Amino acid sequence: MKTHPFVRDLLAGGKPVAYGAKAIPEGGWYAMPRLSADGLLLCGDTGGFLNGGRLKGIHLAIKSGMMAAETLFECLVADDFSRERLDRYAARVESSWAGAELRSMRNFHQAFQQSGLFGGMLRSGIQMYTGGFDILGDHLGGQAGYERMRKVADRHPAGKPAPMKDDGGLTFDKLADVFLSGTTHEEDQPVHLHVRDTSICATKCREEFGNPCQHFCPAAVYEMVPDPAKPGALKLHINASNCVHCKTCDIADPYQIIDWVTPEGGGGPDYKRL
Ligand code: SF4
Repeated sequence: MKTHPFVRDLLAGGKPVAYGAKAIPEGGWYAMPRLSADGLLLCGDTGGFLNGGRLKGIHLAIKSGMMAAETLFECLVADDFSRERLDRYAARVESSWAGAELRSMRNFHQAFQQSGLFGGMLRSGIQMYTGGFDILGDHLGGQAGYERMRKVADRHPAGKPAPMKDDGGLTFDKLADVFLSGTTHEEDQPVHLHVRDTSICATKCREEFGNPCQHFCPAAVYEMVPDPAKPGALKLHINASNCVHCKTCDIADPYQIIDWVTPEGGGGPDYKRL
């Protein structure tokens, strides 16, 4: 987008001051997980509290935290943290303005996914008048991020285009971006990105999807490097300390073999302006 002639002119002479990346839970009301379990409540992005139409979620995250605190206070008084009692949190969410706001956007992304940009604009416009009800129904199905990944043969039937070159003025290599995000991790902390079967990366994924983790990861964490044990073959190399904690890989990996586990506390990006 930055290289589009219109945007390029707007940015001419500027310099980057910060960098960051974050996947958002855009699925809406019907994609939210169960919000409570024994000893557990989910708030904010973890619970899918995002208004997909407005791309806003901080107010919903704050409200979910307030409702979780009210529920936990009752649990403390009763000394009961069972799922049955914690379920009151879900009931609070349901009857709050946050629940109403989320329900009004319940079919927003699904309309765009099914009908593309112009059809989605029309349908989501109608949803705004109907309180979220879509012309094709009230509970539209959607696809998870990894189900939307397209194979190389479908994406580039005429062959893969040459990769874009970074110019250092408008576009930068990913390592320069990671530097601007202020990301740090303890050198000796356990790797927080678990790939369950790396042989899939070297074979099936390379052939079918062209190892998309190398491209969708905004921090150059995943690299396919020559495998010294197998001449001509590549193997996955993980630069875990670059990770900016966006969670894209966990969502978009077409084989769902990447598990993003919580890293040690204190590490990660150091966002000051985002
Ligand atoms: Fe995001 Fe995953 Fe890359 Fe970390 S490794 S920056 S979570 S895509």
